[in-house]
Amino acid sequence: MTAHSTTEPTELAGTAGCRACQEFDLAEAVARSERDESRATDCRVLRRRHRAAEHAEQP
Ligand SMILES: [Zn+2]
Repeated sequence: MTAHSTTEPTELAGTAGCRACQEFDLAEAVARSERDESRATDCRVLRRRHRAAEHAEQP
């Protein structure tokens, strides 16, 4: 999985339209559908880190 966030403008509180956020959501949903809780947890951690870095969101 790669995040192409370097060329996209950063919009504060723009998580709804953020490709990376959507990919994390999708990856977590897939992991959960496969009952892979450890991977789902990884997705949540990565998404939280991404939001803190790209959307200035506090954990
Ligand atoms: Zn995002």
